[in-house]
Amino acid sequence: MEQRRIGHTDMSAGIIGLGTEHLDNKPYAVVEETIHAALDAGINLMDLFMPGEEVRRKIGRALAGRRDRMLIQGHICSVDLNQQYDISRDLTTCRKYFENLLRSLNTDYIDFGMLFFIDSPEDFAAVFDTSILEYALKLKEQGTIRAIGASSHNPETARRIVESGVVDLLMFSINPAFDLMPAVSDPLTMLGDTAGMMTGMDPARAALYRLCEQKGVSISVMKTLGAGKLLSAEHTPFSGPLTVGQCIHYALTRPAVVSTLIGCCSRAQVLEAVGYCNLSDEERDFAPVISSYRGGFQGSCVYCNHCQPCPMEIDIATVNKYLDIARLDTGAIPPSIAQHYRALAHHGSDCIGCGNCETRCPFRVPVIDNMRRAAELFGC
Ligand code: SF4
Ligand code: SF4
Repeated sequence: MEQRRIGHTDMSAGIIGLGTEHLDNKPYAVVEETIHAALDAGINLMDLFMPGEEVRRKIGRALAGRRDRMLIQGHICSVDLNQQYDISRDLTTCRKYFENLLRSLNTDYIDFGMLFFIDSPEDFAAVFDTSILEYALKLKEQGTIRAIGASSHNPETARRIVESGVVDLLMFSINPAFDLMPAVSDPLTMLGDTAGMMTGMDPARAALYRLCEQKGVSISVMKTLGAGKLLSAEHTPFSGPLTVGQCIHYALTRPAVVSTLIGCCSRAQVLEAVGYCNLSDEERDFAPVISSYRGGFQGSCVYCNHCQPCPMEIDIATVNKYLDIARLDTGAIPPSIAQHYRALAHHGSDCIGCGNCETRCPFRVPVIDNMRRAAELFGC
């Protein structure tokens, strides 16, 4: 499985990761089957946000002997109050649940200490301006966590998290329907009732992915399948349902994304998710489905490669991606982005303006203009 490096750490994750929420309240046999199938398939990144001790213990037991082969996202502030999942910003309570996570998993470290569910400005202040952040920094200093991450569903708040400079990993909800929605905490509630809501690529989301790439913050993706709604003919906001492979490919082609966390509770589901790695380009191609949404992504490059081949062999999607990142209004172009661009075999300056790409692009992207701008910005 392709591995991608996470943030500024020395850790790399496979492009398919495991979400574990569907393992909650399942018998141990189901947990073991799923975790073992994931490990056997080469999955090495797992998210575990649930605060319940029982599911944590089952997962720890299933990982026994192979703990070091799984990078774990464990959450700080995810607690279990009155038998219900909850969020706490009280340090004593958060510490108790995080220590319980270590004990339940029978481990002395968590790879990513994730600051949990930071969606609103109030969430941000309650974590980043308080002793919760100090606690996470201390855990990192002690080596109890190897890196700090955070989870969010809101692009405006996520931008502040990334700009804090504290995190290497952001868990964020990404799929083609959410990308067309305005910044809200839970766009899932609007799927299936999207009349008037999907008005074009949300600039805040697009900017967030580019900012992450610029700052060297990686994204692990949740809600890749829109809780299954994008796979359903009844609920899809597009002309038809997407496949699991198309949803995964969409997420993996956004800037900064390292891994998609697919929620599974059986070996079959794990195998379906990792089956993405063996799909053909045609099977991964999401463009025919999402281009059907009127007014959707028009004018925005979605990095789908439909414009190929280019007679000058320019990797148009990649040039567009670097251009998008460089165009963010955040000052100088990061040296790493300029370096990646220059390392391409062919550049914007090679464009002869034949227009073949623009004829083929389902999203009416002004490719010729983009190639000219890339050449100006990067100097080749
Ligand atoms: S320019 Fe159009 S066809 Fe080419 S990668 Fe971008 S969106 Fe796809
Ligand atoms: S217009 Fe430029 S980028 Fe597009 S196909 Fe022709 S040479 Fe390639």
